[in-house]
Amino acid sequence: MEGFEYQDNRLHAESVPLELIAEEHGTPCFVYSAAAMERQVEGLRTAFSGQSYRICYAVKANGNLAVLQYLARLGCAFDLVSGGELARVQAAGGDLSQSVFSGVGKTSEEIRQALDAGIGAFHVESPSELERISRIAQKEGKVAPVSLRINPAIEVNTHPHIATGFRGSKFGVPWDEALDTYRIANRLGGLEIRGVACHIGSQLVDAEPIVAAARQLVDLADRLREEGIDLEYVDVGGGLGICYHDEKPPALEPYAEGLREVIGDRPLSLVIEPGRYVMGNAGILLTRVEYIKHTAGGRFVVVDAAMTELMRPALYGAWHAIMPVTKMEGRERRNCDVVGPVCETTDCLGRSRRLSVEEGELLAVFSCGAYAASMGSSYNARPPVAEVMVDGDRHDLVRCRGEVDQLYAGERIREG
Ligand SMILES: *Cc1c(COP(=O)(O)O)cnc(C)c1O
Repeated sequence: MEGFEYQDNRLHAESVPLELIAEEHGTPCFVYSAAAMERQVEGLRTAFSGQSYRICYAVKANGNLAVLQYLARLGCAFDLVSGGELARVQAAGGDLSQSVFSGVGKTSEEIRQALDAGIGAFHVESPSELERISRIAQKEGKVAPVSLRINPAIEVNTHPHIATGFRGSKFGVPWDEALDTYRIANRLGGLEIRGVACHIGSQLVDAEPIVAAARQLVDLADRLREEGIDLEYVDVGGGLGICYHDEKPPALEPYAEGLREVIGDRPLSLVIEPGRYVMGNAGILLTRVEYIKHTAGGRFVVVDAAMTELMRPALYGAWHAIMPVTKMEGRERRNCDVVGPVCETTDCLGRSRRLSVEEGELLAVFSCGAYAASMGSSYNARPPVAEVMVDGDRHDLVRCRGEVDQLYAGERIREG
């Protein structure tokens, strides 16, 4: 895996041995590779070169400030879905004027916050939201840039929990109401129409549905132009899949080429919103084996990481590779379940794995750069874990391990 390789049987993040990171920062701990992040962004850059495009990295995949800062330096803008994510992008020095604000439930407070911050565009999901943004913008004496997120009603081949573009999903303006909703946007005061967006699902292993959705959006843009509504961009969302196990992620060339063809010579630029593709394989979760125990269910390797750091296996039955940090020669590999300490049967990071590992040793759970730390919870009163970013032989702590008393700092014992 780019960024994480064995050297003399010891797993490294770039040039730094993971044993050293565990020693310095403890476990569990997320480790990110700057080189792996850069490689992904560069891949997109190369595929889209010569085209007018913008990368708006989806903050929800991993919103660590150092990650956002690094991606901003690589030229990315951001796709954000809450006031909290907006504050993160601001704190990391990201360019909000090139960024977009997505999501089905923006509150009035969040709309004001984004207007004040000079957001590039609101990606609006309903006529009610258009009216609310229009009202707030006029009250503040501002013009809000808006695009509509359209649901192109496309079925995709992915886990049902991460498909978003099928007919009847909560996301987007239904396809057959798109034109009317643009007409509403065009009538309302305080709004300026910028573009059109969609996002049809995540972990897509085939780019064809994304290109098909883009074709629908471009058709819509053509119809709108006939009515005198000119769009600047078409945003095809994120969704590019990665390899967790044996998936074949879509090649970038046909994806970029397909989108180029669909846009043709129209004066439309392209926006993409990759999250998982940029970060998924740029991070691992480093964990230590606490106990090995046997029950009628077999051999259990109990580690110090849990569903509180990596929810995906419990949430979608996701598969993550798990490897020993130090490979021991000549030791037998045995079948086991790798489980965390949390009081849920679904707190299992890997089922039926063949591993040779003993108590006290370190394991690396791969593909934990996206939708791991950002989905973390403090269930069982577990504070957030440390995060480290490696860049060549440099490694920096980019999030301190949380303290338990921070978890209940806002709670109050009742008087009397
Ligand atoms: C989640 C999301 C993304 C990122 O999806 P990935 O599958 O991680 O690329 C992009 N855009 C929107 C609107 C999203 O909700």
